[in-house]
Amino acid sequence: MKKIIFATGNAGKMKEIREILKDLDAEVLSMKEAGVEADIVEDGKTFEENAVIKAKTVCELTGEIALADDSGLEIDYLNKEPGIYSARYMGEDTSYRIKNANLIERLEGVPDEKRTARFVCAIAAAFPDGTVKTVRGTMEGRIGYEEAGENGFGYDPIFYLPEYDCSSAELSMEEKNKISHRGKALRAIKEELL
Ligand code: IMP
Repeated sequence: MKKIIFATGNAGKMKEIREILKDLDAEVLSMKEAGVEADIVEDGKTFEENAVIKAKTVCELTGEIALADDSGLEIDYLNKEPGIYSARYMGEDTSYRIKNANLIERLEGVPDEKRTARFVCAIAAAFPDGTVKTVRGTMEGRIGYEEAGENGFGYDPIFYLPEYDCSSAELSMEEKNKISHRGKALRAIKEELL
């Protein structure tokens, strides 16, 4: 069976990835499961560039097909901040309670129609023959006025989805996967792998 290595150390992501890629005739392994150790510097300027850096590094190290993702939150009113710096915004170790409160504060007085935002996920696939493919998935919404919901992670509690009248932290994992940036990008990369 073919091996596909997903360049992440995040167990939650691996669960989601395996679920979506389960009908591919391939064994999907995390970096750890594949025995790959690499400290990859994500110094790209876009989500796609960062995903490509990670996927290519793991493909070159293993000789197997490698996938990698890079994702984040773009807030239009803040010139698309925090963007590719979403994980590092206000410092990697700062709690999301503080990051979320800060973003809400920076949007104080900003009306609904200017609070538009999106989650973006780029996924790159690097093949042993040197080919690289990238796809992008997005989920559109608005920044809320307070945190809501306990599910999800990161910026989910402040990401309001007008069509569902709730935050993405109030959706179940299955509901979120159907509409999320990562779910869409994973389904798109699956098409590329088929
Ligand atoms: P990563 O590059 O996929 O590890 O994600 C970068 C950062 O973007 C995360 O640490 C979160 O801050 C944010 N992010 C990405 N996807 C989501 C999501 O689905 N919900 C909430 N925050 C997210």
